[in-house]
Amino acid sequence: MKFRELAKYFEKIESTSSRLSITQILSDLFKKVEADQIKHTIYLLQGRLAPLYEPVKFGLAEKMIIKSGVVALKIKKEEFLHEYKKIGDLGRAVEYFKKGIRSLEKKELSVMNVYRQLYELASAGGEGSQDVKIQTLVNLIRSLDALSCRYVVRIPIGVLRLGFSDMTVLDAYSWMIKGDKSLRPTIEKAYHVRPDLGQLGYVLKKEGTGGLKKMRPAIFTPILMMRAERLSSGQEIIEKIGRCAVEYKYDGFRLQVHYSAKGRLPSGQKKIKVRLYSRNLEDVSYMYPDVIEGVKREVKANEIIFEGEAIGFDPHSGNFLPFQETVQRKRKYGIEEKMKEVPLKFFAFELLYLDGKKFLDISYLERRRALERSIKLTGDIFKDTLLLASENILDDPKKLELMFDDAVSKGLEGIIAKKLSGVYKPGAREWNWIKFKRSYSSKIEDTIDCLVMGYDFGKGKRAGFGIGAFLVGVYDEKQDKFLTVAKIGTGLSDEEWKQLKVRSKKLEVRSKPVLYEVDKMMECDVWISPSIVVEIKADEITKSPVHTAGRKLRPSKSGKALEVDIPGFALRFPRLERFRDDKRPEDTTTLGEIKKMYNT
Ligand code: ATP
Repeated sequence: MKFRELAKYFEKIESTSSRLSITQILSDLFKKVEADQIKHTIYLLQGRLAPLYEPVKFGLAEKMIIKSGVVALKIKKEEFLHEYKKIGDLGRAVEYFKKGIRSLEKKELSVMNVYRQLYELASAGGEGSQDVKIQTLVNLIRSLDALSCRYVVRIPIGVLRLGFSDMTVLDAYSWMIKGDKSLRPTIEKAYHVRPDLGQLGYVLKKEGTGGLKKMRPAIFTPILMMRAERLSSGQEIIEKIGRCAVEYKYDGFRLQVHYSAKGRLPSGQKKIKVRLYSRNLEDVSYMYPDVIEGVKREVKANEIIFEGEAIGFDPHSGNFLPFQETVQRKRKYGIEEKMKEVPLKFFAFELLYLDGKKFLDISYLERRRALERSIKLTGDIFKDTLLLASENILDDPKKLELMFDDAVSKGLEGIIAKKLSGVYKPGAREWNWIKFKRSYSSKIEDTIDCLVMGYDFGKGKRAGFGIGAFLVGVYDEKQDKFLTVAKIGTGLSDEEWKQLKVRSKKLEVRSKPVLYEVDKMMECDVWISPSIVVEIKADEITKSPVHTAGRKLRPSKSGKALEVDIPGFALRFPRLERFRDDKRPEDTTTLGEIKKMYNT
């Protein structure tokens, strides 16, 4: 396919506000693309060159892109900046000038060719690499038509944002094969084990749905992490799952470890042995060199995928550190120094894959025993980096409560009870794991993870920050939409308001994203694309006509308008607990969970 044709699809998607129409446009596109090009097409549609968990950075600042535009289009910088300021979008500014210049030669570049050039641009490193990057972009701008330029320029600055989610792509794959979304559950199951939309598309095109059944976990492709249900007493837990394994709930960072003793070559990179992925499947290996070394030293396996929680450790007292201290290890700079101050211990608790054998469909008990055999323990907590999550097999609610009290007295969050016969279900929140947390002084026993959808400008003191209240929502899995539950205007420190503003800056979009359902009363001054997840503490879940989570509308008596039939759910006294950078937008609390919390 020519890139010019793909750009027309970009444009169609950009100007569509219905999720269903976007799904159909995508499915139409996927039907036309050849199997060996679908990976590249899907990554470009997401403004990337590889799946989410492959860190490919373009390394081209906005001013370099402006320079590329000016050189390619042979115009004065002032003239370009003037127009850019008016239009407010770098892609459209380049498109505007390109339209006006008929004399420049245009070549018909294929999607693969543009992909390759962008890949070269991203991979250029070392001395003189900025010049190489600029020249590559100059060549692309010169060769492509105006509309293609709009999108090619947006990709390296990370502002393509066509506003559809991975779930929309899964639906589109189903439409591509079946003409409806009936295959989505089967495709989604495979996606949970191999969340690479490109690879999924390739398998579907080559082998149809039969190929999905053969998809197995792969080293250096993170598996979507399993999640826990909630209960708030030992009695309820034993009634629900009977005799179970009870582990401490450590409060640190959940990591999925991928290890290959021989080392492997993930796409275009140098051979590596260990990779660490966060909850939202980001490669965070560079942040935790001590865990990486620990894995190399203390794992007994050729190839393994396992999970656990990394938590700060005080090497003087031998105590574990609270989350507020552990969190200091989450940083991009000064990693080595912080590592000495806050070394980490890693409590392994789940085995997913070992030496060619998939452990997902195997019972908890077997997984745990195999995990125990895969880690070398000296028994000296000062020496070992890898440890096993402490585990007790219990069937007495009182003993479970005692273990819970013990966990709380150690400063931990609580416990996790695991069903002995329970399998590991990637991406699912199931009763195979049940968390029992220190309850808060509120009527809801857990915090709620919400997506930040937009914000209003501040008044008074907060006018200085440029942000005064922000709108948050939860995820409706059935509709693949975000529905609002609160607008939060208090309870943040000055630092947190500033942080929120800075984080929002890069994510601002011109109009409300298609995935958001928001009442008129809750509209925001600024909309931001789905990215920032926050953990919210609230006193209670109440009902409100202005929030869309769980709200049902019906035609008014006159039949001309809609009125509220069933009000939505809203959070009472919501306040920010922490930013949850380890979660993807789809990992926020779901509408189903909110309903359950409201009813208990
Ligand atoms: P929370 O905000 O309560 O930590 P969450 O939404 O991040 O919950 P859940 O799946 O609901 O995630 O709860 C399980 C979390 O508890 C895991 O993501 C993991 O980070 C943490 N955890 C700590 N210790 C354990 C353990 N022994 N087994 C499983 N998970 C554990």
